Amino acid sequence: SLDVIPSSLEVIPSSLEVVSDGSDFVHLDYAASAPCVRAAADAVQDLLPRYGSVHRGTGVRSQTSTLAYELARDVVAEFVGARPGDTVIFTRNTTDALNLLARALPPGTTTVQFDGEHHANLLPWPNPLRLATPSSPGEAVTALKTALDGLTGPVVVTVTGASNVTGEVWPVRELADVAHSYGARVVVDAAQLAPHVPVDLDDLGADYLAFSGHKLYAPFGAGVLAGRSDWLDAAEPYLAGGGASAAVGDRPGDLTWATGPARHEGGTPNLLGAVAIAAVCEALTEAGRSTLRDHEQRLLARLRAGLAGVPGATEVSLFGPDHPRVGIVSLALSGHDPAEVARRLGRDHGIGVRAGQFCAHPLVRRLTGADRTGACGDGVPGLLRISFGLGSTTGDVDRIVAALAGVLGTDRT
Ligand code: PMP
Repeated sequence: SLDVIPSSLEVIPSSLEVVSDGSDFVHLDYAASAPCVRAAADAVQDLLPRYGSVHRGTGVRSQTSTLAYELARDVVAEFVGARPGDTVIFTRNTTDALNLLARALPPGTTTVQFDGEHHANLLPWPNPLRLATPSSPGEAVTALKTALDGLTGPVVVTVTGASNVTGEVWPVRELADVAHSYGARVVVDAAQLAPHVPVDLDDLGADYLAFSGHKLYAPFGAGVLAGRSDWLDAAEPYLAGGGASAAVGDRPGDLTWATGPARHEGGTPNLLGAVAIAAVCEALTEAGRSTLRDHEQRLLARLRAGLAGVPGATEVSLFGPDHPRVGIVSLALSGHDPAEVARRLGRDHGIGVRAGQFCAHPLVRRLTGADRTGACGDGVPGLLRISFGLGSTTGDVDRIVAALAGVLGTDRT
């Protein structure tokens, strides 16, 4: 129940969260963007009257901001269990973090990936060796071993922490152990993992970790890349400009790039975004992640039990129904257009979910048996996704189950 959630992690009330029938709007699309929690809102509110430019001034506003920004970096470093030699770079989001890292790889790096990734972790990588998404963790490990055998030069294995489609937690540690035994490095797309479970670099076996503030109960515009600094320090800056440059001569090319995180944080940084993320990291740690996980797992069990009684909606999974997952469930709807069902849920029931292919086209095609245009066996594209987190309640779960039963029962599309 909600009384286990401390006030720092309450979702802030919003005038938008009321629909015309007088009942509360139910947000069940946390996997796209989670609502802002009190800790993040307070941290931003506290700085609003005081901020100045980070790293760029001697005035008290600038100094306060520089301190707050670097403190936020330290907090995030602790949150991910940064080790000596690791760095934390603030980015715009997960997509930005993964693109940044992809451009910082040594020349000739091969990347190994499964095709079940979100596009943000599928598309940025150079020389990709793409493996079919496995149907069990054991199969994933075997496929990775086979792929790594015989590869030469630098190799990076990039894997999702939890699927944004099925919510299933990937066997990251097992895959990382295999990758490391071949001398490869491991990147974890933690966009859907960090909001739900601890993301410790060492525990995961990750060399790099990326996540977004807006899925972690902070507002938009900031994300994190954390991990080993050597390649990042040696790479060309992600964005050339102020902040990324230490000294610039008169002739083009006569310049010295900055070292450390500043090298890849060209331009004036997003102080409020970084501070909001750090505030959430602290609040999550203080709250104790197991309490929050238990809250989510209780809701997940209730949701899945409820959905099992809704005809025409079938939960999809890669690794089987008993595999651990975070608060995300996607449904294949027989004979119904998921987009239309999502519209009806929003319009008639005040419930926000998402329909479609969730920026994971190869995975959704595989789960639905669709062809490349997205048309599934019954001519209906995509899935319906329900996702939740901290602000969610058993009442929310009961509402979507009842609403879905009604929409699917009455409305054949
Ligand atoms: N990876 C995963 C697993 C995601 O779910 C998402 C967002 N849907 C991303 C990456 C990209 O995140 P962002 O849009 O914040 O860059």
